[in-house]
Amino acid sequence: MNPTVESFAQLELSPAILEALAGIGYETPSPIQAACIPHLLAGDDLLGEAQTGTGKTAAFALPLLDRLDLAVRQPQVLVLTPTRELAIQVAEAFQRYAKNLPGFHVLPIYGGQSMVVQLRQLSRGAHVVVGTPGRVMDHIERRSLNLDGLRTLVLDEADEMLRMGFIDDVEWILEHVPVERQTALFSATMPDAIRRVAHRYLREPREVKIKAATATVTTIRQRFCQIAVAHKLDALTRILEVEEDFDAAIVFVRTKTATVELAEKLEARGYAAAALNGDMTQQLRERVIEQLKGGSLDIVVATDVAARGLDVPRISHVINFDIPYDTEAYVHRIGRTGRAGRTGTAILFVAPREARMLKVIERATRQPIEPLQLPSREAVADKRVAAFRQQVATVLESEDLDFFHEVVAGMEDSHDADIHDIAAALAFLAQRERPLQLPGSGPDIAMQSAPRPERPPRENRDAILQRRREFSDGHLQRYRIEVGRNQQATPKDIVGAIANEAGIESRFIGQINLYEDYSTVELPSDLPQDVLEILRRVRVRQRQLNIRALDHDEAQRDAARPRPGPGPRFGSKPDHRREDAPRKPFAKPWDKPAGKPTGDRPHADKSFHGERRDTRGTGFKPGKKKPPRDR
Ligand code: AMP
Repeated sequence: MNPTVESFAQLELSPAILEALAGIGYETPSPIQAACIPHLLAGDDLLGEAQTGTGKTAAFALPLLDRLDLAVRQPQVLVLTPTRELAIQVAEAFQRYAKNLPGFHVLPIYGGQSMVVQLRQLSRGAHVVVGTPGRVMDHIERRSLNLDGLRTLVLDEADEMLRMGFIDDVEWILEHVPVERQTALFSATMPDAIRRVAHRYLREPREVKIKAATATVTTIRQRFCQIAVAHKLDALTRILEVEEDFDAAIVFVRTKTATVELAEKLEARGYAAAALNGDMTQQLRERVIEQLKGGSLDIVVATDVAARGLDVPRISHVINFDIPYDTEAYVHRIGRTGRAGRTGTAILFVAPREARMLKVIERATRQPIEPLQLPSREAVADKRVAAFRQQVATVLESEDLDFFHEVVAGMEDSHDADIHDIAAALAFLAQRERPLQLPGSGPDIAMQSAPRPERPPRENRDAILQRRREFSDGHLQRYRIEVGRNQQATPKDIVGAIANEAGIESRFIGQINLYEDYSTVELPSDLPQDVLEILRRVRVRQRQLNIRALDHDEAQRDAARPRPGPGPRFGSKPDHRREDAPRKPFAKPWDKPAGKPTGDRPHADKSFHGERRDTRGTGFKPGKKKPPRDR
């Protein structure tokens, strides 16, 4: 860790990259960036222990972009990620940081995407390829991905790749890339299997680990709210409205741009808010702090750097609008409240992907962080009505209203209106700027953003998935799932979700029939309860599957009913790929499919982690040459 790095310029990144970062609004390198960038720029191998949210993507993307030879349009950097979502995210990050690198090209390749399109894109050439292990392996085997010019290989979220069963593929790839290369491995945790890979394939790696600051902060009540990025602003304003003991708040965001944007949005909603960031002159920053102290400002939206050392006793709330990079930053942030012997409240917004960071923070502060139930629209409305009543009561008590009595009496006469109607109309006028009822209908964000039903804890989940071996007795049954054509679900989506989330290999997934609002799918009849539980919660096209077995009558109707729409493969005709599968006893799921090149890899695990899954739904049949993978 290098605590003295205050700016990206100190890291000797090229002007083109620095300019892009300034445009995005990054103020200062995160600790993992400060620590990794010099090593990667120097060409060293790297072993980084960091989770999502620490800024690890930029930690490798920035120096690797700097080292690219743009004149050579072939893959010089290959990043392996466990999921397609992450592959896309990482590719987008490269693209953003390379804004000022003319001709730069990055290509995400992952399972589920058309092979034809990928082959065409690969033939056009790319400087950086980001992909999931199965698909990358596939392209290496087909020779459509030429890695002769590869200079750096990055393994991102290595422990996730291990957990998802891709570690064999990863090692296969490590064996098939040029020996003379730089390798960087990032992992949130360092289980033995990952250490072993690092030991075998990294050369004298520099090790970087985010320091876990610990502190006991008993005077600060810590709460978290799991929330999608799109709902953060709404959530913040609701919280600010209903919080008891609110005096002033500091809201932490990651970028300078975000400080300004969020402060403006809060101002537009009637809050006395201002930004505080490193772009502002010292004088301006001091003025903002003075205004906060004096009470002419209630909310300051700041970056970590700008808020360093801030000591304003009236700050009752610290809102971590963007999650901090590490526990040290968190402890520092929340220390801005609960000062001078007062109590304080810290609220942390956690995006779904950042759940792991929450656990790390909880451990570091040695205190549970309680879940915060987002105030509902009704709760906010109640609060506003109560405040409005109070205002009216104060006016009734303290103001001379003679003139206004006359005005109202005039209205009563001329409109022949009831006094209550007039009062209601006046209340309506008075609340226009700040409505007493919150706009919107339909599901409330509180409901949408409530933490998803807990997945079983990892060990438990893995154990569940391991036990799927028990259902391999050869009988299939039809199940109903609550997603269909109207949601644009495809058999591929369904097979992919079932295979990935419940660990059921595609060869145990039989025929799929798509209907308008639901589908039916054949699965082993003896799916254990806990696997069913996982499947019930799995989502396809944003719909929870809510899987349940069809009863006898439903199954008969399903078999007899003409299928809507043409659907050559999954419509009226039985799914050709699975014609034989349901009738035959299964091959044992732990039988390794033939044809997988093994090389002399050190590890040929036949456990669940070593198996592959087919998310394509394109028809792996037992005995077919290629094993199904995450294509
Ligand atoms: P990551 O841990 O790579 O998933 O990054 C998490 C988030 O932090 C992303 O939204 C990045 O855009 C953002 N981020 C990364 N580095 C910085 C930085 N130095 N300053 C501000 N935001 C950053």
